[in-house]
Order: sequence, then structure tokens, then C-alpha cells
Amino acid sequence: MTAPATERRIAANSFTFILCTTSRTTFGITISHTGEVVVRGPHGTTDEQAVDLVHRRREWIYRQLKHFKETAPDDHAKELIGGTGFAVLGHGHRLRIVADADQEQPLVQHRWSERGPWLHMRSTTARNVEAAREELVAFYARTGQEWLDAHAPSITQQTTTPELPVKMSTRMRTNWAYHHQTRGLTLHWATAQLSTVYIRELIHRTLGLHSVTHNHLYERSLQTLWLGDLQPHRALAPTIQPCRACSAAVNTLHAENCSSALCARTGRQHSDCGHPDATCNTVWSGQHPHLTACIEYGFFCRETPDGYEPCDAHAPRALPDYLRVYRECRWSAAEQRMVLDA
Ligand SMILES: [Zn+2]
Ligand SMILES: [Zn+2]
Repeated sequence: MTAPATERRIAANSFTFILCTTSRTTFGITISHTGEVVVRGPHGTTDEQAVDLVHRRREWIYRQLKHFKETAPDDHAKELIGGTGFAVLGHGHRLRIVADADQEQPLVQHRWSERGPWLHMRSTTARNVEAAREELVAFYARTGQEWLDAHAPSITQQTTTPELPVKMSTRMRTNWAYHHQTRGLTLHWATAQLSTVYIRELIHRTLGLHSVTHNHLYERSLQTLWLGDLQPHRALAPTIQPCRACSAAVNTLHAENCSSALCARTGRQHSDCGHPDATCNTVWSGQHPHLTACIEYGFFCRETPDGYEPCDAHAPRALPDYLRVYRECRWSAAEQRMVLDA
């Protein structure tokens, strides 16, 4: 009877690894699919033996870990905030949240503008993560399909089925592309983020045609595709801290004289709004409405030697641009928050 396999975690100098002992008689090192170093050896292997093996093979391990880091899929969540980057057919776009009155459709692409390409999302859409995701996915599928309609026929003409339909799909989960003999070629919506040369490469490979681009970069670009994971900006997560000025608990009215309280009717400071009654006080939501507006609309700036300049929320040293809130927003008494002025 053989002893069952055992596993234990051992700390080496700069990382930890897993030692897995079995009835085998030889040693081996592998990198798991999660990027973990796994040492395999016979039962009775001591920690010292394992560490010694890792030490001797360290250059190989570092090379493997580096390779793993470069090739592992990183389906990072994107933050739903002005300034977040979205690649469209290989071109970087930035998200801008615009007033409902400015735009009928939920999402509009502006390819040409002074400060580069933008995706303009309607404010109402941006406040609902699910709706925003749906619009973005549909936009990618639409944009990809337009490109396919214009360019796929020149590729399928090189095959025995020149009339093969080529479609973008919002339903694919595990494949980037699927070739069905009669239904045709289907591409994952996320591939509309790729440079067009990589979309060509994907189609070429799936149809068994010659390669048209560099291998390594192509693989890498597939692994960095955004797959729809969208999160509200982390600062928008509800806080549970009481108001710093009057100690009102979250979701309760500010104190009458609180310097942070706004007038529910005008959005001006409540302490000197001049209304004789007390019904115009606002509720402390966990975040000052002006900061909420900066986060929602991506109003950020940073200090430069020439003064303040607008910047993305993600930029180093970014600060909320409250002046811009005063300039471009107005108080909505109905919604009890700052909204973009139409
Ligand atoms: Zn308060
Ligand atoms: Zn008032």
C-alpha cells in the first residue's frame, strides 16, 4: 500500500511554494495554473531538501513566473467612472459620463475629438452597473460586426466557403472564435477590442489560413481583453462613517447648523440658506454630494507648475475638481444630488 500524497506550504526567500510528496522517487518543479510554484518529491522529503532544490532551480523558476505573469489572463474589472479606458478595434477610448439631456442614446462613440476618442455614456445608464455593462457589450458587438461586414468577406474568399457568415456574438463564454460548418464563424464580442490585424489573425487561425501577425503579441492581446467585469468606482461604495462635521449617522439628517449640510431645495449650504423652516435640511448619505458628482462625472484635476489641469481619476495626485462641480452641475431637488447642467 502506498502512502497518500501530502502537501505543505514552505516559505523560501522571496516567495512561498507548495511541497507535494507522493510515492514517486524523483523530484520535480512545476508552476501551477494559478502561478504557484509546486515542488514534487518522495515521501520523507525535508523542508531543507525542498528549499535547496528551489534555490538551485531559482533562475528557471523566475523565468517561468515572469512568463506566467506575462501570459496569464487578467480580466480586470473596469471602474465605471469618467476617464476609464476602453479599447475599440485597438484604439484607446476614454469614458465620459454626460448629462441625460445631452444625449438620447445610452452610449455614443466619438472617434475624433481634440483630446482623443471618447465613449459618452448617459448619466442614468452610468448609475446602473448592469445597464452600463449591457450597453458596452452591445456596443462592442455592433462595432465588431460593422468591421466584419466590411472586411471578413475578403478573408473568407480565400477559403472553399467564400460565403461563410461571420458574426459577433454576445453569448460566447469560453471561446474567442468558433467555426461551425453551416452556421459559419462566430467571434466573441470582446474581440472587438483587438487591433484589426489581430481580428484578422483570429479569423485566419480559426479558418486554418496562414498567419498574418506576430505570435507573442497576438496571444498577449487576447489575454488582456476586458470581459465585461464592471464595478462602480470604489469611492462610491457606501460608507458607514458618521458626518465628520456634525456626527450624524448615515441616512439621517445632518444637525441644523452642520457646515456639511446642504439645503434640500437649493443645494446651497443649509446653515445660511435663509429658509425659515427646518424641512430643507439634507440627509448624510455617507459621502458629500459634491464628491459624489466628481466621482460620477470624472471631475478630477491635479496641480502642475502652471496651475491645476483636468486629469483622469486614475492619474497620480488626482484631486476631486469641486470648482468644476460648481461650474457644470446644478442641484436636483427631486434627486437630492448634483446633476450635470444641460
Ligand atoms: Zn453633518
Ligand atoms: Zn434651505
